[in-house]
Amino acid sequence: MIIDLRSDTVTKPTQGMREAMFSAPIGDDVFGEDPTVLALEEKIAGIFGKEAALFCPSGTMTNQIAIRLHTRIQTEVICHKYSHIYLYEGGGIMANSLASVKLLEGDLGKITASQVGASINPDDIHAPETTMVSLENTMNKGGGSIYTLDEVIPIKKVCEEYRLKLHLDGARFFNALVETGENPSEWGAQFDTISICLSKGLGCPVGSVLLGSKVDIKRARKIRKVMGGGMRQAGFLAAAGIYALDHHIDRLKEDHARARTLGEMLLKKSFVPEVLPVATNIAIARLDGITPEFFLKKLNEKGIKAVKFGPDLVRFVTHHDFDDDQLEEFRKRISDL
Ligand SMILES: *Cc1c(COP(=O)(O)O)cnc(C)c1O
Repeated sequence: MIIDLRSDTVTKPTQGMREAMFSAPIGDDVFGEDPTVLALEEKIAGIFGKEAALFCPSGTMTNQIAIRLHTRIQTEVICHKYSHIYLYEGGGIMANSLASVKLLEGDLGKITASQVGASINPDDIHAPETTMVSLENTMNKGGGSIYTLDEVIPIKKVCEEYRLKLHLDGARFFNALVETGENPSEWGAQFDTISICLSKGLGCPVGSVLLGSKVDIKRARKIRKVMGGGMRQAGFLAAAGIYALDHHIDRLKEDHARARTLGEMLLKKSFVPEVLPVATNIAIARLDGITPEFFLKKLNEKGIKAVKFGPDLVRFVTHHDFDDDQLEEFRKRISDL
């Protein structure tokens, strides 16, 4: 048995999810006629108290559409230097929006309101105009760290004062919400747009959703079209999303508990001096004396997969297809490393 902890995207649909997909009513979503896509969009917008939602093939697309919505040529996005939108979306801020980016530093991938305030460009011909701020929750490269509402409300205030749009890359947002117990619609009220991945911890095969106002989502639909993201009988995929929202949210806590245990197991190894605080389903181990490549090779020989996440970092992500038996098996397999 391979223990695959490279990402929470490796999960395969459960029997229940497959049945929901198979029996979904469908139609042509580019004509706005897929009842299951419409139902998913309405359901998830409702959870966050947003007016509208748009189902897309990937979280990269939902983030990049949001950036297109909130920038123009020669404007600038503020985000943490570890942000997925900057590091892992193929240079899309530039390629899709011809916009610049200001990268901030901050503990565990998080930024503060005062940093944002100090990073807004002056009204000056030399500087790109700052038009948006993007936050990531949970923060992947920060070890799955969580922003709380307390931290976000002051950032929203700064955005309002300077008329900046605020976007949330919430690829793993439900992982944060099950930990904090915070109210999704209070979060919805802070952001102009929110991107949520269904294909990560929620266990769907494909799909992400962008939430926002009716006006923004109407424009987003057109941007999705030019990106080639208009799908036809997409209800088969949206049905998985509806199923996941009904059945796979609470269980994310189990992934978090297993990630914490896994982090403790790793920390017992002489070559692991540090594991970033495990807040959700991600455990990032810092290595000392061995390279990530060497560690990954040894793990691979034992049937364990993880990914390099920096010059001395390896990332493990727990998910729906990783259960307590596999956790115990993980402990056994790394015992003689
Ligand atoms: C996975 C992820 C995305 C989107 O990824 P896709 O693979 O394009 O769906 C966006 N942001 C973060 C933080 C992610 O982890």
